[in-house]
Amino acid sequence: MIPIAKLAGTSYRIHWLVLALVGLYTYLGQGRLLLLLMAALFFHEMAHVITARALGIKVSAVELTPFGGQAQIADFTGLEPEKELFMSLAGPLSSLSLAAFFYFVPTGLDADTSLWLMRCNLFLGLFNLLPALPMDGGRILRSWLSPLMGFRKSTRLAAFTGMAFAAAIICHGFYYTSEAVYMAQEILAGMVLFWFAVRESRFLAYSFMRYLIHKKSELNRLGFLETRQVVSSWDTPLRSLLKDTRPKHYLIVVVLDDYHHVANVYTEAELIECFMEIGPLATLRQCRQ
Ligand SMILES: [Zn+2]
Repeated sequence: MIPIAKLAGTSYRIHWLVLALVGLYTYLGQGRLLLLLMAALFFHEMAHVITARALGIKVSAVELTPFGGQAQIADFTGLEPEKELFMSLAGPLSSLSLAAFFYFVPTGLDADTSLWLMRCNLFLGLFNLLPALPMDGGRILRSWLSPLMGFRKSTRLAAFTGMAFAAAIICHGFYYTSEAVYMAQEILAGMVLFWFAVRESRFLAYSFMRYLIHKKSELNRLGFLETRQVVSSWDTPLRSLLKDTRPKHYLIVVVLDDYHHVANVYTEAELIECFMEIGPLATLRQCRQ
């Protein structure tokens, strides 16, 4: 990933494959068309970022990849199912609206440019609705599954769908495409997609681990951390407890029973582990089991 800008706390990075493609297409005399595609990609990505902002989700980084990019969330706020759903839908819906715009509204652009812009946006919108990670549809699928089976399993399932889809593209390239150029393109696209799906299946667990490791290293460095103590009942959902986690404070949740006796104490690490395993709607009671 190559960093290009940092705006309002969000860093923007571009995948080297995108730059390689720009180089290749410019060499082939198709640079202008690719630039239009990049503009469509950027529009798509900004729809995610603006929706995230509106929902109060902190986006730490936006990465532009050949498959439409990825807005990375900074903390647990973006993992609430309904927020993830809206944030994921925003990209494909904006691309499809833009495709309709270029199809129906006379823009004064020449016919070829209008047609290309319509096609790019239509492709971006439809492709990203596929229910497989790393596409937005994969996130939509996860937001639907995570309350049922937890983040870890639903992420793995959505990423597995992505890998299966990528494998299908590779097989199609090998067996059903006769022209060498298209065959190579399809196989390469399938391989890159496969790699992104694998990366996606690890990313979430990895970002939680990184968060916890960072906190542990802060604890080692300073020797102590201030705690933020919360008193809670058994039926409080984890997402409300984890909503305000901060890097410099350690969260301790004291669970009180009906008689206001201390029933249990949970550390932040234990809560995150339970959150990953059961899902965002999990209550403290479910973590006990
Ligand atoms: Zn998207």
